[in-house]
Amino acid sequence: MKDLSRRIMATKGPSPLRIVLVVLGVLVCISPLVLLANLIANQPTPFAIVFSLFAGVISTFLVASIVEWFVHRYAMHKSKRLPLFRIATELHHNAHHWVHCPPTRYVNPEQINRPSVFAAGKNELCQTTLTRVLTTASHAAFYTFLTIPILLLAWVVTVNIWFTVSMVSMAAVFIYLFIRLHDAIHHPGLSWLERFNWFWFLDHHHYIHHIDNDANTNFLLPLGDLLMGTLRLELTAEEQAKWPSYAEARTL
Ligand SMILES: [Zn+2]
Ligand SMILES: [Zn+2]
Ligand SMILES: [Zn+2]
Repeated sequence: MKDLSRRIMATKGPSPLRIVLVVLGVLVCISPLVLLANLIANQPTPFAIVFSLFAGVISTFLVASIVEWFVHRYAMHKSKRLPLFRIATELHHNAHHWVHCPPTRYVNPEQINRPSVFAAGKNELCQTTLTRVLTTASHAAFYTFLTIPILLLAWVVTVNIWFTVSMVSMAAVFIYLFIRLHDAIHHPGLSWLERFNWFWFLDHHHYIHHIDNDANTNFLLPLGDLLMGTLRLELTAEEQAKWPSYAEARTL
């Protein structure tokens, strides 16, 4: 008899070889852009500036697709040791996923309230405006802290101001969207982002991640999951039997 137990398990992660190949592949893809950005760094022509900005956008998109995958999968879901990442896992994996927004309570009509970084038990929500503001700021600071070394490296390698400015601005937009879009998904009617079709694609995509935490790791940039083999577009029959459908989850 065929063993079906594997099918109800969470998505299998990629092999170490696949992870290495994906990271190398992304580096190979961006290296011509980075090299050209370096070569034209001191040319004040409109072409050099436009190309540098464009190369910065493409490079940030590719690098962020991989970084988002690593940070979300390991730092926010699977960390038990390193203190900073352990706190991120307690706040995200435990508190967000399985206390405040489980699949049966995927949307929340109340105001945004995050599990507080200051509470001893990381499942407690923020109680005051100050802790709320500081908790949100700490999320932005966490992503920024992880992004700064990459941006510094981009500057050191290219010495191209337009390339670097482009990467910094794209990184800022991505960090804003990581936080804002995720809030918008769990709090209907909160944001103008809902008017875009891709918002609803990412929402359905994120609902699958709330059921199978090992799938659809990238909240914003699904390319990372596609490359790592953790992209899922539909729930299995077992998952559908166990959890609300996406349409139900949006109304619960
Ligand atoms: Zn998650
Ligand atoms: Zn979520
Ligand atoms: Zn929430």
